[in-house]
Amino acid sequence: MIVSANVQEKLSRLGIRKELDLILHLPIRYEDETHLFPISDALPGQVVQVEGVIIHNEVVMRPRRQLVCQIEDSSGILVMRFLNFYGSQIKTYAVGKRVRLLGEIRSGFFGAEMVHPKCRIIRKSESLAESMTPIYPTTAGLTQSILGKLIGQVLQDAQKTQALTETLPEKIIQKYRLAGLKESVMCLHNPPPDVSIEALQARTHPAWRRIKFDELLAQQLSMRLHYRQRRSHSAPVLVQKNKLAKLLLKQLAFELTAAQIKVSAEISRDLAAAHPMQRLLQGDVGSGKTIVAALAALQAIENGFQAALMAPTEILAEQHFQKLSAWFDPLGIQVVWLSGSQKKKQKQAALDDIALGTAQLAVGTHALFQDQVVFHQLGLAIIDEQHRFGVHQRLALRMKGSLSNTVPHQLMMSATPIPRTLSMSYFADLDVSIIDELPPGRAPIVTKLIADNRRDEIIARIQQACQQGKQVYWVCPLIEESETLQLQTAMETYESLSQIFPDLSVGLVHGRLATQEKTAVMASFKQGEIQLLVATTVIEVGVDVPNASLMVIENAERMGLSQLHQLRGRVGRGSEASICILLFQQPLSEIARKRLKIIFEHTDGFEIARQDLQLRGPGEFLGARQSGVPMLRFADLEQDGELLATAQATANEMLNDYPGLAQRHIERWLGDKTEYLRV
Ligand code: ADP
Ligand code: MG
Repeated sequence: MIVSANVQEKLSRLGIRKELDLILHLPIRYEDETHLFPISDALPGQVVQVEGVIIHNEVVMRPRRQLVCQIEDSSGILVMRFLNFYGSQIKTYAVGKRVRLLGEIRSGFFGAEMVHPKCRIIRKSESLAESMTPIYPTTAGLTQSILGKLIGQVLQDAQKTQALTETLPEKIIQKYRLAGLKESVMCLHNPPPDVSIEALQARTHPAWRRIKFDELLAQQLSMRLHYRQRRSHSAPVLVQKNKLAKLLLKQLAFELTAAQIKVSAEISRDLAAAHPMQRLLQGDVGSGKTIVAALAALQAIENGFQAALMAPTEILAEQHFQKLSAWFDPLGIQVVWLSGSQKKKQKQAALDDIALGTAQLAVGTHALFQDQVVFHQLGLAIIDEQHRFGVHQRLALRMKGSLSNTVPHQLMMSATPIPRTLSMSYFADLDVSIIDELPPGRAPIVTKLIADNRRDEIIARIQQACQQGKQVYWVCPLIEESETLQLQTAMETYESLSQIFPDLSVGLVHGRLATQEKTAVMASFKQGEIQLLVATTVIEVGVDVPNASLMVIENAERMGLSQLHQLRGRVGRGSEASICILLFQQPLSEIARKRLKIIFEHTDGFEIARQDLQLRGPGEFLGARQSGVPMLRFADLEQDGELLATAQATANEMLNDYPGLAQRHIERWLGDKTEYLRV
């Protein structure tokens, strides 16, 4: 393929580097130029091709300068309108010229019209296209016709060469009645005249099915391969002894739910194996993941190994530290705390304990995987709110296993429930455990949407709640552009609420407070000394104060769904009926309105996540993980769930029985995009 540097640069912007990339650069839609519509038959909203003679041509000034032509065929007259045009076009579209137009019919003031149609002057007997015209995704400066020509050339070569040989075993093609790859690719680039355009547009045509299957399969293969490679490492065998677990469970004020017991058993079994666990524990906000993590840590500790628990924010890490210390101290287990903002001396002491092995559990923030942290014998790394960490950070913690040739077990926890199809695709390199019930006795949270100009009602409500001994969160708006501004808003809110409620004890917590101050504020809120806590979104994850039963979130329209769900999850943790008030500022954008509707109507995190995925698509939903994982271009998780399950089954079969083909398949579809392999 010989192209100019300019074109090459444009192509690379589209992710096209090799000939194969061009072959797999598939149309986003098609235009039907295979037949002509009589003008009078075309209905508004239809995209059609018509042909006729220009009978009128005029530049009008009302309401602004535009070129208006009338086209006539044997059935009727159509208005063609250009709002932007070159002077030369006035001449080109002179009266008497015959034109072919493709565009959407609208009903205008003077009858049917097309605005900015694709318009071509034609000689009398020019033949019609024989197949649908593919329209490719492209970038500024690269026209459809250049791109189409390039693809055409490469396809011609591909007919002769091996570029599109099968990577699927015949058996699998038969079993799932898949179309051939080469035929599918050819069909999508040059659809035959008799093809169903609906099936092509909706991507349900067998050719699309094959492409999507191949894509999903490539993703499954590469992720399962990584899974197997990591599994081929050794890990410490952490035998199930259950002595410490029994002691811990005895001292708890509650019984584990059936779901907690089930996931604990899955984790425990993994830990007892000689290869590293790579498990993702999913559970909705408040489903009780911390105790499950604690039980896993005990299994490591019981076998003479250390465990580490890493959390994305200092507040959360600190809270874990307190909770776990309270649970583990009575068992004679030493828990240490490590964070970036710690005093030098304390930090050094913690580091020493970790290195010597006297610290059996280390709890902390990102500080845990810094270079100076050396574990004596790390057996299990637990990562809370895993989506907050990038792949590199998780990798760094995993490298902390200091027994030669072993890798610690890894437990990742996610409070943002992950929709099933997403978890099957983008998390296919992990085993997944799901806590699918909440502890009993939780009163449901009532969500209220209140416009910002009705604040006064809320003030009365807060007063009343506090009088009844309840506690309240007031969450300040997220200001993405400026942390300083966010801080300022929080302080102002704190000032004004303190004035409004002179007889309440009001507290303030935000990200810029020093660790000790944060800890002190959270502690006095927990103990009930603070009645109304003004907070920034730092309290979003994990914070657990069961007596807090009213939450006000300001400018809720600015927040994402999972953030709102997380924040709301800070209440409804006790047996008290809880209320979450979402204050919003009008006017609402379309997307904000949709989000607020979803959060108002649903409390189930999995359902919210499913709708969030629909709203935003997988790219944004995945956040940090996205950076490492090849994204799907053709398959649609919502629409192609069944195909995904098929691809999953096929991936395992191919890795077992056809490893060579599997490798070629991955290379064809992912090429060098499989870099996160070692994480
Ligand atoms: P999350 O899954 O959001 O991390 P936590 O582990 O913080 O949830 O648990 C939420 C609250 O529920 C905590 O106060 C915890 O002690 C309590 N909890 C956990 N498991 C149970 C249970 N089986 N029964 C009653 N309360 C429980
Ligand atoms: Mg948690």
